[in-house]
Amino acid sequence: MAPQTKKPTLLCGGNQQYGRARLRRDPVDDLSDSQNEWFTDRPIKWMLYDTIVGFDKGIMENIIESALSKWAAVSSLTFEKAAPDTAADDVNLKIKVSGPSVVDPDFPAQTDGSWIAANASWGPGISQLWKPVEKKIYSAHVKFNNTSSGPNNWNVNQIHNVFLHEVGHALKLGHTLVEGAVMGRLMKEGGGNQDIQLQSDDIARIQKYYKPASAKRRFRRAKGSVSAFRS
Ligand SMILES: [Zn+2]
Repeated sequence: MAPQTKKPTLLCGGNQQYGRARLRRDPVDDLSDSQNEWFTDRPIKWMLYDTIVGFDKGIMENIIESALSKWAAVSSLTFEKAAPDTAADDVNLKIKVSGPSVVDPDFPAQTDGSWIAANASWGPGISQLWKPVEKKIYSAHVKFNNTSSGPNNWNVNQIHNVFLHEVGHALKLGHTLVEGAVMGRLMKEGGGNQDIQLQSDDIARIQKYYKPASAKRRFRRAKGSVSAFRS
């Protein structure tokens, strides 16, 4: 019998909030959703700061846009790539890569052949400490593991699939035990060779917080009544 080729299972590195790592193998898992919620009255501005070796920035940005558009299509959330000169406080979603020469304590090596592919914030951090105090700062991150403890064979589909899952955390979702859902903990077979789609469980969960239909109806009414304001 021919030996089976063992493909690594990609793991989510868990969530971080306020600097406290939540480990993926804690007996009490991070299944619950974050308390913090994003705004929906304007786009979440995102920026890609680093790249995975072998991928140029434009390609990675296209992959990220494709994944973000899937969440946007089923929710009231919108996303916008931040202009290159955008101040750090005004970039809401920071997308980073731990590079090959880095030892990142967020990504300890695994001993069972699996990899921690990435981690992310658990919902947005919301700060009101800056002046003017009315200006809340919303901030979250997704970080890919391109260190020696990470996947050594990143491909376009894996980047997409891992990001689709991790940004779900940044949007405020925890993990699910529903089989096959994007927000499940494990990504088997190395993340697959095709882009995954949001499943009904993922869609129901994001719509619990960011309902799309009412927002769109409001928008249409507002547009339709423009002439009433001209009198
Ligand atoms: Zn996860």
